[in-house]
Amino acid sequence: MHAIILLGGPGSGKGTAADMLRKETEYIHVSTGDMLRAAIKEGTPVGREAEKFLTEGELVPDDVIIRIVEDRLDEGTGHDAYTFDGFPRTLGQAELLDRSFEGRNGSIRHVFCLKAPPEILIPRLTGRRICRSCGTNYHVVNIPPQVEGVCDNCGGELYQRSDDEESTIRHRLEVYEDQTRDLISYYDKRGVLAPVEAGKAPQDTMGEILEVLQKDGA
Ligand code: AMP
Repeated sequence: MHAIILLGGPGSGKGTAADMLRKETEYIHVSTGDMLRAAIKEGTPVGREAEKFLTEGELVPDDVIIRIVEDRLDEGTGHDAYTFDGFPRTLGQAELLDRSFEGRNGSIRHVFCLKAPPEILIPRLTGRRICRSCGTNYHVVNIPPQVEGVCDNCGGELYQRSDDEESTIRHRLEVYEDQTRDLISYYDKRGVLAPVEAGKAPQDTMGEILEVLQKDGA
């Protein structure tokens, strides 16, 4: 199995890029944020453990995260290609992932670091809306649905994530900066880090990512 990692603060477009990769390449989208929200909704033991961290915009402990990721990898065929979106978030998670991949013959091909300034990220997040049924992302200004509050894709109801409120967003951005500094240098030293300009239109960000993937035939 092999993976690419999308690193980037809240609102940097990791989810949108992962979704485009799912449609245009063989990479399967694995979002720890989506898995945690699903676990909370279903009221599983992981969901109960994670809920307060998500509500406060804090990181869920590493052991919980690696457990849900490994469960997800165990569902695969062993030859799959994954896009990790929002994982790893800490150096500890990166080390746990390396250990897990050692036992599975896995390799990390690229770590795309999506960068954009807070003045772009904050309005992106406060305007973000998500379909309750199929998870498609919208934005009230940048990517509005045809009918307000209704998903173009499946007709589902659009909602705003509770942690997409401005004060929580600022805190999440700080948490992201603090926690990922070491992670960025960890992957930089390994030679797999690819910085991507994420302040522009999603297709342009995606173009940069695809160019890197095409260069090594992935
Ligand atoms: P996201 O959907 O990636 O923005 O994640 C939403 C929230 O889920 C974060 O603010 C964290 O509380 C939690 N979360 C998601 N992925 C991770 C991770 N890899 N490590 C720790 N917490 C995470």
